[in-house]
Formats: sequence, structure tokens, C-alpha cells
Amino acid sequence: GYFPIHIKGPVQRGFGRGGKDLGCPTANLPDESITPLSSVAKPGVYFGYAQVIPPTSTSDEPSRAWRPEDRKVLPMAMSMGWNPFYKNEKLTCEIHIMHDFPTDFYGFEMRAVVLGYIRPELDYVSRELLIADIDTDKQVAINSLDRPAWKWENFRKGPE
Ligand code: ADP
Ligand code: MG
Repeated sequence: GYFPIHIKGPVQRGFGRGGKDLGCPTANLPDESITPLSSVAKPGVYFGYAQVIPPTSTSDEPSRAWRPEDRKVLPMAMSMGWNPFYKNEKLTCEIHIMHDFPTDFYGFEMRAVVLGYIRPELDYVSRELLIADIDTDKQVAINSLDRPAWKWENFRKGPE
């Protein structure tokens, strides 16, 4: 198998649909970070862990509100694909982190380790059905990561 797959990059702005339209914000990775992932993994929904690293500059206004728990390695669900429901022309890789962050984090460094595949990318007849599947994806991610084989301790490379 291909897992674990490591991916990282500065969080980019997307169309702003995840949070507003679907109630599920997704932090988008830049194109350059997607290439190595898309070359080994098919489009679809995945689960794993992610970590957001705020800028070190103390003058950075948003990151001053960040607490230690916001900087931890956290469970995530990731979608890589063409978003057929929105008829995108571009491949995107978007990560929803299962955590309540104090601010947005556009431009912050995001690191992720992708551990498993949940489902293929699908099109939907309604936004409601898409949202229902996203809720299931999050539950699958949480349940999978709770299993002994997918605990973070098995994948960390060294001391935190
Ligand atoms: P965009 O299309 O710009 O990605 P979204 O509506 O998908 O807009 O929102 C994503 C942004 O929301 C992220 O880039 C990040 O700054 C912020 N955000 C806040 N909480 C989360 C979270 N738990 N997971 C992912 N992104 C989050
Ligand atoms: Mg997004």
C-alpha cells in the first residue's frame, strides 16, 4: 500500500464554499503539494492526521490567539479531487481538521499524514445529500483513527 502519505504546504484560499455552503471548512493545499499525492492516490476522501503551524512572528495578529491545543496533531478528513458537485476544473486537496480553531489560518503551514481511504469522489443530486456524506466521512475518520493501528504514536517520526 501507499500509506502513510506525507503532505504539507501553506494553506491557500479556495472558493470559500466549505464553511459557508457545507458547514465544513476545508483548508486547501497549494497545487505544488498536491502533485506527489495525486501521483500515488486516486481522487476521493481520506482520513489521517494534520497539524497547523502558526507563523513564528509575534506581530502576526491572528496567531496570537492560538493556544497549545491548536498546534497539536489532530484528526482530519481529506478530500482530493475535482469536486464534481461544484464542477471544478482543477484538482484540489482540502483538509477538514476536527478541531475548533480560534481563527482562520490562511497562509499558515499545514502538515498532514494520510493514513487511509474512505470512499471515491461522488456527485450529488442535492447539497443536503453531500452534507450527509461529509458527516459520515467525519465519523468514519474518527472511528478509524481510534483503532490501535491508526493511533498517532505509530506514525510520529520523533519527539514532538
Ligand atoms: P476556502 O474555500 O477558502 O478553503 P472554506 O470555507 O473551505 O474556504 O474554509 C477554509 C478555511 O477555514 C481554512 O483555510 C482555515 O483558514 C479555516 N478553518 C477554520 N477552522 C477549520 C478547520 N477545523 N478545518 C479546516 N479549516 C478551518
Ligand atoms: Mg476549503
